Amino acid sequence: MLQIRRDLVDAIVAHARKDHPDEACGVIAGPVGSDGTARPERFIPMLNAARSPTFYEFDSLDLLKLYREMDANDEVPVVIYHSHTATEAYPSRTDISYASEPDAHYVLVSTRDPETHEFRSYRIVDGVVTEEDVEIVEAASPVAGPTESYMFANTGSDDKPDT
Ligand SMILES: [Zn+2]
Repeated sequence: MLQIRRDLVDAIVAHARKDHPDEACGVIAGPVGSDGTARPERFIPMLNAARSPTFYEFDSLDLLKLYREMDANDEVPVVIYHSHTATEAYPSRTDISYASEPDAHYVLVSTRDPETHEFRSYRIVDGVVTEEDVEIVEAASPVAGPTESYMFANTGSDDKPDT
């Protein structure tokens, strides 16, 4: 089962709507708790390097940066999401063949209907897709400060050394 805060669901859906008709993709990172399960906490929208209505692909450099960042923060990619803009929220054959995180929740959002969206979550392990329940929880307390980090906006002068 995927437990996820409502504001994170809203953020994923908003990203999917914004990039429609192209597919949108991203990650929600989070720490692994003492019970061994990871909580989705940090919303990280990514660029769809393929800029395609039928396919998504993380930019390899962005992805490398993200994994370094998560390593440094003791985070894991809890949710890996993308949108389908003309079809149902179910992993395509390509999605299944590219799924490489057996511990991640693969979230799919469909924006094919302008009024309502589908929001579904799957485990994809060794090419086998298993749908799981999604429990949307309210945020326990207001989050201080911005929770979004648009990593693709940080590729400019921030990369230069400070000295
Ligand atoms: Zn897909």
